[in-house]
Amino acid sequence: MEAVITLLPGDGIGPDVTECALEVLEAVAARYEHSFRYETQLIGGAAIDAEGDPLPPATIASCETADAVFLGAVGGPKWSDPNAKIRPEQGLLKLRSILGVFANIRPVKVYSELVGASPLRPEILEGVDMLVVRELTGGIYFGEKTRDETSASDLCTYTVNEIERIVRVAAKLASGRRGKLCSVDKANVLETSRLWRNVTDRLMPVEFPGIDVETLLVDAAAMHLLSRPADFDVIVTENMFGDILTDEASMLAGSLGMLPSASLGDTAVGLYEPIHGSAPDIAGKGIANPCAAIASIALLLRHSLELETEATAVELAIASAIANGARTADIAAGGETRVSTTEMTSEIIRGLH
Ligand code: NAD
Repeated sequence: MEAVITLLPGDGIGPDVTECALEVLEAVAARYEHSFRYETQLIGGAAIDAEGDPLPPATIASCETADAVFLGAVGGPKWSDPNAKIRPEQGLLKLRSILGVFANIRPVKVYSELVGASPLRPEILEGVDMLVVRELTGGIYFGEKTRDETSASDLCTYTVNEIERIVRVAAKLASGRRGKLCSVDKANVLETSRLWRNVTDRLMPVEFPGIDVETLLVDAAAMHLLSRPADFDVIVTENMFGDILTDEASMLAGSLGMLPSASLGDTAVGLYEPIHGSAPDIAGKGIANPCAAIASIALLLRHSLELETEATAVELAIASAIANGARTADIAAGGETRVSTTEMTSEIIRGLH
């Protein structure tokens, strides 16, 4: 097949892992006889430096016409002044909004070889395989903001339609998995959460009668994620809770460098990115873990290009590199040899069949 993919390397380790993602895409194209064309564009701090705009018009135009968009990461100390009017993250929030990608899907799978990389005990991690579905374009991150010298406010809003569509995405994914959905809210305190719970309670038995639904308050969910993570199949939650819970869940896998994400809307054009940030502490050192970026490419192949065989091949290649002992610094146990970003990528490409 032919496809156009926009690449947004961004800042910090973003360009390093984007290079790895591109190499894997090229390896897939060669092996399976596809023709992918790439457009590399600016976003985040790099775009602010070059054009004074974290999401320049050329980037928007390229993303809107592409078949899929891959993003490395944005942000870093150079642009992190809290009083700055223009910030790298604005580019990412605006891009998600423009693409209408309201569902952020984050698989969390623990490789048995990496249980030692997690701070949790091995017996708790056994069998962990969950999907966290986070609402991405509503809630407090997008609500009206006010600020004066003595106070500040952020408005959290959700509509019935926004809740219904994300719950449907999560329920459909649960139908193709173990048939369990956990909806996370804060219905004992927040009005938006009470609406969230009402909508979920009404919709699920009617549209997805076969799905087993559990409801948890976000504070309890934070605890259960650590005490019984293997019980979860699909978790659905609003924007800010999902942001926080997915970083917590990443510790199950041992490192932020292992976890991919897909952001999807009503069209096939998805935005694919590792869940980690720009990691300024290791930027330019050649030691970033490329697995999250490469696993995001697997999601891109699956969800935007409908190439399931190729997607599974990439996931198996990552698993095989891990099984063969390839370890970047973030997932290496004491005494294990550490490979560089490029060596890890080569090992994964070697396992691509
Ligand atoms: P971070 O994810 O960049 O880093 C947290 C820790 O994890 C660091 O110690 C880092 O070295 C490590 N880490 C992250 N990815 C890794 C990888 N692939 N391999 C090995 N180690 C890895 O989070 P942070 O330090 O809180 O944020 C740094 C910057 O990134 C900030 O400017 C923040 O706003 C931005 N950020 C961007 C995104 C995004 O682009 N989607 C997401 C989160 C944070």
